[in-house]
Amino acid sequence: MERNSIFDDIKYQKGVGPKMAEILNQMGIYTKYDLLTYPPFRYIDRNIVEEENIRDGEYVTIFAQVVDCGEIFTRKGKYIFQAVAKTKNDNYIFLTWFNNRYIKNYLKKGDTAIFSGKVRVKRSVYEILHPDFEIFKDDFFELINTGKIVPIYHTKSKITQKYLRKLVFTLIKTFDRIEEDLPYKLVMRKGLMSLTDAIKNLHFPENEEKKEQSLRRLKYGELFYTGLVVAKRKLEVKEKKVEKNYLLKSKLVEKFISSLNFKLTKDQEKSIEDILKDLRSERPMNRLLMGDVGVGKTVVATVAMLYAVESGYQAALMAPTEILAQQHYLKIKDWVENLGVDVELLTSSINENKRRYTQISDGVIKIVIGTHALIREDVVFKNLKLVIVDEQHRFGVIHRSSLKEKGIDVDYLVMTATPIPRSLSLAIYGDMDLSEIRERPSMQKEIKTKWVSPNGIEKMYDFIKKRIDNGERVFIVCPAIEGGEEAEYESVKKVYENLSKTYLKGYKLGIIHSRLSPKDREKVMMKLKEGTIDVLVGTTIIEVGIDVKEATVMVILSAERFGLSQLHQLRGRVGRGEKQSFCFVVSSKDITDDAKKRLQVFCKYNDGFKISEYDLKLRGPGEIWGKRQSGIPVFKFANFFEDFDLMKEAFRDAENLLYSDINLLKKENRIVRINFERSLNEKID
Ligand code: ADP
Ligand code: MG
Repeated sequence: MERNSIFDDIKYQKGVGPKMAEILNQMGIYTKYDLLTYPPFRYIDRNIVEEENIRDGEYVTIFAQVVDCGEIFTRKGKYIFQAVAKTKNDNYIFLTWFNNRYIKNYLKKGDTAIFSGKVRVKRSVYEILHPDFEIFKDDFFELINTGKIVPIYHTKSKITQKYLRKLVFTLIKTFDRIEEDLPYKLVMRKGLMSLTDAIKNLHFPENEEKKEQSLRRLKYGELFYTGLVVAKRKLEVKEKKVEKNYLLKSKLVEKFISSLNFKLTKDQEKSIEDILKDLRSERPMNRLLMGDVGVGKTVVATVAMLYAVESGYQAALMAPTEILAQQHYLKIKDWVENLGVDVELLTSSINENKRRYTQISDGVIKIVIGTHALIREDVVFKNLKLVIVDEQHRFGVIHRSSLKEKGIDVDYLVMTATPIPRSLSLAIYGDMDLSEIRERPSMQKEIKTKWVSPNGIEKMYDFIKKRIDNGERVFIVCPAIEGGEEAEYESVKKVYENLSKTYLKGYKLGIIHSRLSPKDREKVMMKLKEGTIDVLVGTTIIEVGIDVKEATVMVILSAERFGLSQLHQLRGRVGRGEKQSFCFVVSSKDITDDAKKRLQVFCKYNDGFKISEYDLKLRGPGEIWGKRQSGIPVFKFANFFEDFDLMKEAFRDAENLLYSDINLLKKENRIVRINFERSLNEKID
């Protein structure tokens, strides 16, 4: 059966058998459309060069007729195929291939062909070794591999450049006119290239300018549809007027702020102002609170919760891990208990307590802090109005919204410690209003970071002992819990044992990792806080939790095994008090260049924003946060760093379009609706 939709499976394309289809799938090509939009990573100019412009040593493409050809065996048994061809101006070209017995099947005397390669010119005789060539039938438009600017793709195993070019070329011919995936009016107004031309010029650009236009068109398309998703989410909250009864003025908030033993920073004050304004407005709050680890987001969250509580509502705060939930709980409880507000903790390890559930559903408990356990079905709220999600360093578009379902038209605050570039936050959080805390509490000193070589370890531990003698605490992080004898990385158990016997003999060490029960983890964490232990050896579980003011030293062993953002998060565990803090990264001797670069950047910058920008450049957003479920769009053409302006433009256009036709029911927007629905479906599976 003849199939002719561009969204057909690629296996239905002529010339693609099951084997080839499988390899194409591995390259991310599932449909004909995927192939049509498979971007070349490079091009070569194989336009035919006028003979007067041929220069010795240059890469050229020449049109000529074969006057003679044949195979030669050298005395040593080497195989050579040679041809002599004549150009339009009656100049001769000598063409030579070594060890290629196939050429004779393709190139015959009398053939006219186009040859490309690096040319040597000797007294107007040309010579090319191993030229690429293509036989010329009678139509320049039929040429695929020469005579024009030709694409080079990333390929896999059996898929060759020629094979791929041929497939693409045939597809382009088959789908002579590809339906626009943007509204016609928009394409006209923006002066965009048609999709058909963009795809043609993506693979076989007529010239540099058309190539640029094509790329712009394809980037714009991707960005437009990403913008549409964001606009849709935004519209859903923004356009909704809701019933709210927040007090005009909150005594509780004032009391709380004056009870703190520190003064709020300007950024904290501004964020609080933003939030209170949102809460009092007639629309649900939908705000992102962004700020590096330790800048003091929790106070801001607490203010919001107290305001909700005093106004008669319940508030919930969800954290990504048990330890973090516990920490929030302990701190917030400490802050608000003497204000007469009931706070409870809800995590999966304490869910046996049924009474707690009843108290939540009766509305006795006003503030609930917890993990994902909060979104379980049996957790019912009486009047949940404020939902705060502390994402810390992960994005989870999916979990986030389920907690919102527990209340009606809830006010929503997301806290993130991942300072991301504006472009990325526009794509992920573009539907949200933004408050940012950049200023650190003034008493916090910049953490000093040092890269320690294996030879410097003893000195480092001497230094650490002095800090402990001075009443300070230490974290030591390893990549794994345990490892065999020969493991080339450090493990918690080994390091713990070694240190207790050697460098840190006589000091009080504790251990923490994910195999301990949450209760035990909490115990050891409290011990560190109280000073019953001086040193905590653990895995990255330390990263997401414990806030100990006395902790001034973070040691990261086998540091080359950690990602840049992760290192930065670990460093954020110290420097929370007034004393000078230190971070030591210890690496093995032989590490990759990438790892070196990471550690250099890490030591150089203390600013989370800089760190995450580097991380993004080094690895790309997909690598850092995982692809699909994180809600980060994956682009084929657009780039978060280079295309911010185009992104803003496309997002604005998408938003305007949606506002003018909320359900995309206008005839002219039919194609947008179809594509939009298709893209949403793709995201779900
Ligand atoms: P974040 O949640 O942003 O990582 P926290 O809210 O946990 O940061 O704050 C880090 C530490 O700084 C906490 O111990 C907190 O009590 C303290 N803190 C917060 N704001 C201030 C401030 N304005 N001045 C001094 N200390 C502050
Ligand atoms: Mg925090």
